Amino acid sequence: MKPARFAYHRPTTVADAVAHLRDHAGGARVLAGGQSLVPMLNMRLWRPDALIDINEIDELDDIRVDGERTEIGALVRYSTVERSAVVAERLPLLSRIVTHIGDRQVRNRGTVGGSLVQGDPTGEMPLACLVLGATVVAVGPGGVRRIPVGELYEGSYATVLQPDELVVAVEFPGRPQHFAFRQYCRKHNDFAVVSVVATGDRDDDGTWRNVRIALGGVADSPVLATAAAAALEGTPLDDADLDAAAAAASDVIDPPSDVRASAAYRRHLTPVYLRRVLTDLRASRP
Ligand SMILES: Cc1cc2nc3c(=O)[nH]c(=O)nc-3n(C[C@H](O)[C@H](O)[C@H](O)COP(=O)(O)OP(=O)(O)OC[C@H]3O[C@@H](n4cnc5c(N)ncnc54)[C@H](O)[C@@H]3O)c2cc1C
Repeated sequence: MKPARFAYHRPTTVADAVAHLRDHAGGARVLAGGQSLVPMLNMRLWRPDALIDINEIDELDDIRVDGERTEIGALVRYSTVERSAVVAERLPLLSRIVTHIGDRQVRNRGTVGGSLVQGDPTGEMPLACLVLGATVVAVGPGGVRRIPVGELYEGSYATVLQPDELVVAVEFPGRPQHFAFRQYCRKHNDFAVVSVVATGDRDDDGTWRNVRIALGGVADSPVLATAAAAALEGTPLDDADLDAAAAAASDVIDPPSDVRASAAYRRHLTPVYLRRVLTDLRASRP
């Protein structure tokens, strides 16, 4: 099947892209890497009046640093994140997690902004951005809006963005010393059944602080396991601490049943993978 007819715009500035989105009054879609959008068009599940192709907007394609802050442009490809020395040094979790997304072709085209807007509940990029406390920067006709990734989603594949808002970047406030990530997939680099990621800082005496844990595939969107992380604050992450965190994590999940796994199986996997991730975190080197 081929897409229904649509108008096509290829702006070279953010202002022009936003103007096109405004002019189409909710009928247009942004085209970034096309890895999710184009299949939806081809299956005619989406029939937008127009596509606003942002691939010629150079200002969206940068990785910038400012003190502890790192900003990644919306159009930065997964493969650029994978190879970037700046990302590897400051946010190694991102360098690692993108290698779990699709295959080389998908990573060469798919973008950070597209992944965040697509809002797949199993997506690796939304999960990593959530645990890293990132903020999405969006530009609309009314100006700039900053939305913490923890407030971006209002359901599966649904964000709080307005149809005339363009995501221009994602900002990362700091850089945790340690991270650990694991996911369970039915086959290599398939969409995940369950993903778990944790970050934190270890003091010289071996105790942990600033622990954050995010879970993917177990709710409408990635979720922070806040109580589980709080249970680990100031502890050495010994086995009893891990058990307490794993028990607390069950409270924030509401897993779906779908073609990949039942809700019951996801519920079973979550504490198992959380314990493994925390064991990895405890053994990790900065
Ligand atoms: C074979 C295959 C395997 C995959 N495997 C995985 C996987 O393992 N894990 C995973 O997380 N994903 C996976 N994906 C999805 C992939 O990550 C997509 O690239 C991503 O979901 C969308 O990014 P994109 O740049 O291609 O966006 P597009 O497909 O161009 O757009 C996606 C949506 O976001 C909107 N959009 C895009 N950019 C912006 C912006 N800057 N501002 C506002 N709206 C915007 C579009 O209008 C559209 O609604 C896979 C895809 C394929 C085809």
